[in-house]
Amino acid sequence: NVRVRFCPSPTGIPHVGMVRTALFNWAEARHTGGTFVFRIEDTDAQRDSEESFNQIIEALDWLGLDWDEGVRVGGPDGPYRQSERGGIYQDVANKLLEAGYAYESFSTPEEIEARNVAAGRPKEFGYDGYDRNLTEEQKAAFRAAGRKPALRIRMPDEDVSFNDLIRGEITFKAGSVPDYVIVRPNGDPLYTLTNPVDDALMRINVVLRGEDLLSSTPRQIVLYRYLMDLGVAQEMPLFGHMPYVMGQGNKKLSKRDPESNLFLHREHGFIKEGLLNYLALLGWSIGPDRDIFSMDEMVKAFDVRDVKANPARFDIDKATAINAEHIRMLEEQDFLNRSIPYLFNEGLVSAAEWDSLADHERGVLTAAAPLVQSRVRLLGEVGGMVGSLLSDADYLPPADDARKQLKGNPGEVLDLAVAALKDVPEDQWLTDTLHETLNKALIEDAGLKPRAAFGPIRVAMSGRRVSPPLFESMEIVGKDISMKRLENLRA
Ligand code: GLU
Repeated sequence: NVRVRFCPSPTGIPHVGMVRTALFNWAEARHTGGTFVFRIEDTDAQRDSEESFNQIIEALDWLGLDWDEGVRVGGPDGPYRQSERGGIYQDVANKLLEAGYAYESFSTPEEIEARNVAAGRPKEFGYDGYDRNLTEEQKAAFRAAGRKPALRIRMPDEDVSFNDLIRGEITFKAGSVPDYVIVRPNGDPLYTLTNPVDDALMRINVVLRGEDLLSSTPRQIVLYRYLMDLGVAQEMPLFGHMPYVMGQGNKKLSKRDPESNLFLHREHGFIKEGLLNYLALLGWSIGPDRDIFSMDEMVKAFDVRDVKANPARFDIDKATAINAEHIRMLEEQDFLNRSIPYLFNEGLVSAAEWDSLADHERGVLTAAAPLVQSRVRLLGEVGGMVGSLLSDADYLPPADDARKQLKGNPGEVLDLAVAALKDVPEDQWLTDTLHETLNKALIEDAGLKPRAAFGPIRVAMSGRRVSPPLFESMEIVGKDISMKRLENLRA
């Protein structure tokens, strides 16, 4: 039974790297029929926040990445917030100390650096093992001087190797990893302790995480061996390190990059299907020449061993194009329901839910849906398309980019259009009739080029350069408002 986990630290807005980690773990669990554990690593009171904790949960809920054991749902190995597990870590730390796998270390960072300099070692050398063999008298002297010890893990003098699920055999040379701190002098346990201890107690057997954590793996493997010896851990987990996600200019996407902000993508109108599909491509692919797939398809096909080790690039244009494909695949009513909150935020409709809209709003949106759904890439673009259809304004001031459409002699075009449309009866105010009527008057009779003919009419109808198809828009808006908009742009 595969047991994987997602264990973020709640320190900021959920970012795409974090969500990719959650997604791959979730997919691995669902593919294998295993268990997805969700725990929160909030042992750093300085940096962790309740707001971030709630946002991470909101993100998983929104994306539909459900978990089997963990915060909120509970499970056999809880609690699932590390801030509530202090006693467990203390207990394990004591066992490690008693067994000699950990030792008390009184060295301050300044002392360590001074010793390295004195010995001609590079500054980055790190901890030198000074406290490994302190005598009881030496320790007592430190204590008498008011010093409190940190706890450090004793690294063995041998290579540490493991077979990474994604990268293959990886070896850390003996001596390359210094003895490291697991408990601070003030008694606070560190990630170095809490993460492997919880993986052990929660019986995690596949650890899938970002490449940035690769350097902590030899330490965790050593600690795991000690935990197995102490009966705290049962079996060594397998490890897989997913590639970095690169952003602009081939730099690692940073948490602070707007492009990495999950909620910003949602605000712009990514739907979860599109975003998940794109994030799945950051290191994985479902098959050659195939970009678009559903989460069901991903779950069927996913195998962590297929994840590629080389860095993945976050490409917002590609992500947006994939999102567009998923928008097109939505049921029409689903598309509308999901668009309403965006329209409401822009002040274009009277309510944030379909059922609470006014009848005429529902009518316009239903008529416009097929035109719009096939044209937007993000739900945030829907408003620009339907705003002029929902509005009952008799005049829509042309946006800056729309003015360019008014070159030539727009006045004359508008006059010709008004004259031709005047006699179209209300019950004939239909796409086909409007198309024929204007085509005849402007193209055939007046000899205008389509762009010169329809540009000004489009601007009159929508105030914009791009809008949903023109004749359909005129039908949806109706004769009265259409005529006024044409006449008023003329005036
Ligand atoms: N809390 C760690 C982080 O957010 C998790 C690391 C891991 O997956 O082991 O970076």
